[in-house]
Amino acid sequence: MDRDDVTVLLQDATARASAYLRELRTRSVAPSPEAVERLAALDRALPAEPSDPRTVLAELDALVSPATMAMAGSRFFGFVIGGALPVTVAANILATAWDQNSARRDVTPGTAVLEDVALRWVVEALGLPPGTAGGFVTGATVANLTALAAARHAVLARAGWEVESQGLFGAPEITVVVGAEAHVSVMKALAMLGLGRDRVVVVPVDGQGRMRPEALPRLSGPTIVCLQAGNVNSGAFDPFAELVPRAHDAGAWVHVDGAFGLWARAAPNRAALASGIEGADSWATDAHKWLNVPYDSGLALVRDGAPLRAAMGMTAAYLPAGGTHRDPADYTPELSRRARGVEVWAALRALGRSGLADLLERSCRQARRFADGLAAAGYRVLNDVTLNQVLVSFGDPERTRRVIAAIQADGTCWCGGTVWQGHTAMRISVCSWATTEEDVERSLEAMCRAAGANPR
Ligand SMILES: *Cc1c(COP(=O)(O)O)cnc(C)c1O
Repeated sequence: MDRDDVTVLLQDATARASAYLRELRTRSVAPSPEAVERLAALDRALPAEPSDPRTVLAELDALVSPATMAMAGSRFFGFVIGGALPVTVAANILATAWDQNSARRDVTPGTAVLEDVALRWVVEALGLPPGTAGGFVTGATVANLTALAAARHAVLARAGWEVESQGLFGAPEITVVVGAEAHVSVMKALAMLGLGRDRVVVVPVDGQGRMRPEALPRLSGPTIVCLQAGNVNSGAFDPFAELVPRAHDAGAWVHVDGAFGLWARAAPNRAALASGIEGADSWATDAHKWLNVPYDSGLALVRDGAPLRAAMGMTAAYLPAGGTHRDPADYTPELSRRARGVEVWAALRALGRSGLADLLERSCRQARRFADGLAAAGYRVLNDVTLNQVLVSFGDPERTRRVIAAIQADGTCWCGGTVWQGHTAMRISVCSWATTEEDVERSLEAMCRAAGANPR
C-alpha cells in the first residue's frame, strides 16, 4: 500500500465508525436476529490470495456492524459497563496507529509517561494514598489477580517465605476472607493464584450484599481480606471504615474489588459510601466501565509498589533494565501490550474533576429516576438505590424473565437479568456518558410497555 492508500483507508474507517455511532441513536440496541444470521457469511475458507484492504473493511462493516450490541449507545444498561467517550475513541485510534509495545520505558517513553500521569490522576481522583503504585491491565478480573498476587507476596514475605521463587508447596498457609457476595472474578483470581476458591472463609452479608462486620472472624497469621466497593447487582459497599482497621489490627492485607464502585470516590455526593476505603492495601478497578474508555482497560492499584514489583517484575538479558523510573511491565502480568493508559489519560484530561463528577452523579440520578418510575408503575425495586444500580422484579420469576426478554426484543434499551438473594430480577446499570434524561424516559416507557404486555 502506498501512503495515499493508507490515508484513504483510514478516512474510510473513521467515516464508517462515525456513521455507526450516529446510527446507534435510532437502531435497536440488540442486533436483529436477521443481522446475527447474516454473520454466517463470515464463515468461509481461509483466503488463498490477498484482498484489497478497503474490501476487507467494507465487509467487516457490512456484516458485523449491524450484528453488534449497541454498547456504545445511550440505552444499554447491562453489566455495568458504560460506553466510550468520543475523546477516548479518538485517542485510541491515534494510539493504535502509534502501535507502541508499552512494556519498557526507554523503548516507548511517550506511552510510559502517559501512564505515569494517568495513574497519578486516577489515584488522586479516587482519593487513594499519594504514591499508590499501579499497573494498566485488561480489566478488573486481571486487576484482582495482579493486586492479589502482590498481597500473596506481602503476607508470605512477612512469614519469611518468598513465594515467587519458592512457590506455594510447603508455604505457610494463607487465610483468605471474602464476603458471600464477592464477585466471581475475585474467586477466579484466587483460583489462579493457588489460593483456592473453596478454602476461603466466607463472611455473611446483609440484605444489600454488604459484609456484616460482626461476622468477621478473629484473624491471625498470613491473611488476605477481600472487600468490595460496588456490588455488581445492588451497587452496595462493604463497611470499610469498620472492617479495614480490624483487618489491619490482625496484620491482614486488605484488598478491595472496586471495578465500578471505586469511582464513587470521585462523585461528591457518593464518596461517603466508600469512606475508609483509602485505608486498604490494594484496589482493583475498571476504566472501561464508569470512566467510559474503550476495552480493555483496568487498573491494579497497590499502596506500596514493592510487593507488586516483586510479584510482577521480570528481567532478561534482552530486556533493558528499568533504572529509577517506573517500567510498565514490572507492574502487570503482561510483557507486550497496548498502551492502555492513553485513553485513561484522554478521559481524565478531557473531563477534569468536575466533568468526571458530573458523569458519575448523572448516572446515579438516572438510576434513581429508573427506580422511582418503576416503583410508581407498581413494580418492586429490590435494592437501596444509592449508586447506579437498580434491581426490579416484575412479579414471579417466570414473569420477570418474560418481561426481560420482551424488553430486549423491543430494542429501545437493553437490560439483563439476575437472581438477587433468591429473587429473579432485572438489572439496570447506568454508567454511560451518553445516557440522557430523554433516554431514561424512553427506556422507562419501553419497560412499562413490555411489563404491561406480559400480564401474570
Ligand atoms: C465487572 C466487575 C468485575 C470484572 O471486571 P472485568 O473488567 O469484566 O474483568 C469484577 N468485580 C466487579 C464488582 C465488577 O463489577
